Amino acid sequence: MKVYKFGGASVKDASGVKNVCSIITSTNDNLVVVVSAMAKTTNALERVLAAYLENKPNDLKAEMAELKNFHANIINELFANPEKQRFELEAVLEGLSYFLSINTKRDYDFCYDQVVSVGELISTKIVAAYLASQNIDAEWVDVRTILKTDSTYRDANVNFETSGELFRNTIDFNQHHIYLTQGFIGANHKGYSTTLGREGSDYTAAIIANLLGGESVTIWKDVPGVLNADPRIFKDTVHLPSVSYKQAIELAFYGAQIIHPKTIKPLQNRSIPLYVRSFVDPAAPGTEVAASIAKTEAVPVYILKQKQTLISVEPKDYSFALEDSWIKVFSIMQKYRLKANLIQNSAISMSISVDGTNQQLPAAIDEFMNDFRVKYNEGLNLLTIQNYNEYILESYSADVEVILMQKSRRTARILYR
Ligand code: ASP
Ligand code: MG
Repeated sequence: MKVYKFGGASVKDASGVKNVCSIITSTNDNLVVVVSAMAKTTNALERVLAAYLENKPNDLKAEMAELKNFHANIINELFANPEKQRFELEAVLEGLSYFLSINTKRDYDFCYDQVVSVGELISTKIVAAYLASQNIDAEWVDVRTILKTDSTYRDANVNFETSGELFRNTIDFNQHHIYLTQGFIGANHKGYSTTLGREGSDYTAAIIANLLGGESVTIWKDVPGVLNADPRIFKDTVHLPSVSYKQAIELAFYGAQIIHPKTIKPLQNRSIPLYVRSFVDPAAPGTEVAASIAKTEAVPVYILKQKQTLISVEPKDYSFALEDSWIKVFSIMQKYRLKANLIQNSAISMSISVDGTNQQLPAAIDEFMNDFRVKYNEGLNLLTIQNYNEYILESYSADVEVILMQKSRRTARILYR
């Protein structure tokens, strides 16, 4: 069996849904198809949640109406008799409204998962109904009944053992040769929805391939595969036909928004190759991510992470010589889920670059202030260049204010303003 994953951009409108269905039916392989929420639905649901938690009933109503309209328009375009699908859409949204009306927990992460998971339920129901209308037998599965996680809402950890058993009991290719399910979401033992972190559908696809011993995972995207830089930011990008697991993990860590960082591990454990291919041009070869790749010449790869905040902490008692201060820094980071994108230390201080958009950052800085003198710099850019040379480094650091630079033999990192 193979796993196909389609992101929000691939199902952003009715013609997108049709295109996805034609890609699904162009193979005879047994498939598990993982689909994300349509277009920017997850962001819209985040606004629903904000309106709810901030007690703004008018905004809440408007956001819900917008969600309904957006999906209803797609349904109207896809189906000759759209009533049944419209009814299903309304049922899901009424379920959400009902949850909001009876919920008493104000815990943001818990509420987030209950609200946001609705996006994937709606999208997969629409895609499944469209396949059915084309006489294609695809079995819709509510992934929450088989993908079991702990209760770390918004960043849930999957229970591979329990989920593996449930998947193997549920997915039977003698019954159906296509299964269609949701990315990004799961459920805990109490039956509450959980999510795996933003853009987590890639990770779902990898988990499913791992649990079912898949032959490969294909992530269908709006780019022709992995490029050596983001074409929206850099000129003259080069397509990379193959990338090793290790390089893929590095790319994800440095901020290339091509594959979710957690995706590689479940694949690597079972040597399952990952293909990144274009849903716009499905015949194009794309990029293969696998254990070992043919050694290509070392193309420079550029990854830019914007909106960085550099926090510099200095123990009030100059105790950085002692490990205790290090532990304190990292436990605060862990508590507020701050990811260190770059770290530099000196005898008396430690500087850490983190995503400035992290909502928990102000609270974390407050807590740092208990034990440390804290300075921070906002609005920085972090550029990582793999396979750099001195000429490249110079040209990228010439016209900017370099705050910090780190170099290893193969990788250079420049934090600048
Ligand atoms: N719909 C979710 C998000 O936008 C998950 C995903 O697309 O992978 O974050
Ligand atoms: Mg998405």
